[in-house]
Amino acid sequence: QPDVTFAGAGAEDVTFGYGEETILQNVTVPVPAGRTIGIVGRSGSGKSTLLKLFLRFWQVEQGRVQLSGRSVEQINTQNLRRMQALVTQETHLFQDSIRNNLRIARQDATDAELVAACKKASIHDFIAALPRGYDTPVGELGDTLSGGERQRLGLARAFLHDAPFLLLDEPTSNLDSLNEAVILRALAEEHGKRTVVLVSHRVSTMGIADTVYSVENGRVS
Ligand code: ATP
Ligand code: MG
Repeated sequence: QPDVTFAGAGAEDVTFGYGEETILQNVTVPVPAGRTIGIVGRSGSGKSTLLKLFLRFWQVEQGRVQLSGRSVEQINTQNLRRMQALVTQETHLFQDSIRNNLRIARQDATDAELVAACKKASIHDFIAALPRGYDTPVGELGDTLSGGERQRLGLARAFLHDAPFLLLDEPTSNLDSLNEAVILRALAEEHGKRTVVLVSHRVSTMGIADTVYSVENGRVS
């Protein structure tokens, strides 16, 4: 039962930059447990940077980033991973079967759980139609996997990973509106169960967010 112990997250008065330039200045973004927080902003405004601070990708010198009441730097990497499921702007796939690529999210996942996650991510029908189905080697497919198919596999992984905190960076950027609708519905169904930070350019995606923050010139409002 993922969300029982997760008490939400937040960036508190965080100032961060890569080197000299300040990317985020005195940014406060509360992420209450069970809520979906949307982050919008122009390309290069700092949306992915903000997301990466929750992942402890970079060290925060000014301000605090907390997960479930603890500063991220006080949480060990294993626990951090257990708490968080991530969909990045680029889905990394290994030269292995689709099944094993999905199982990275949860080693003990049953086939039924794989299928359920892939249905939520609107990729099951595609996989089922392949001659070798879930056993299809991703390496063999190579470039024949479209950006949208890769992205949906990334989403399936995140759905499979029963982490309480879901971080999504432009999760539907490569999808047509039909596939996007399936995913937004699945995310809407997780509402209250998982805590979600959703980064997107698209206004359509923000329909499922409880609160939307906008990143502009280093400020979040
Ligand atoms: P997009 O919508 O295009 O994904 P974004 O809002 O996610 O953009 P970020 O990736 O957070 O933007 O980048 C914010 C700024 O920080 C940009 O100017 C970018 O060039 C810069 N930046 C990002 N990563 C690094 C890095 N590792 N080192 C130095 N500068 C970086
Ligand atoms: Mg980005």
